[in-house]
Amino acid sequence: MNSIFCEKCGQETEHKEIIKQKPSKYGKSKKEQFKAFLDGFFGGVASPIGASLDLIDRYEVCTRCGHKTLKNQGDEFQ
Ligand SMILES: [Zn+2]
Repeated sequence: MNSIFCEKCGQETEHKEIIKQKPSKYGKSKKEQFKAFLDGFFGGVASPIGASLDLIDRYEVCTRCGHKTLKNQGDEFQ
């Protein structure tokens, strides 16, 4: 747990990190999923949970009010 400033609470509160899988740009079939996996794999960055980092959102969630802060870094907003 991290102590992070929460905009909603207006003070530092305990936060926990959660990871959500983004809706994939690939289809739902096994073949498409495999393609997505390979793309992620050869893209160079695979996360410990086996999903491409491109496909997950990381949030810090305030344990007090439930406010979520998106923690993605890098190329999400290009
Ligand atoms: Zn809060």
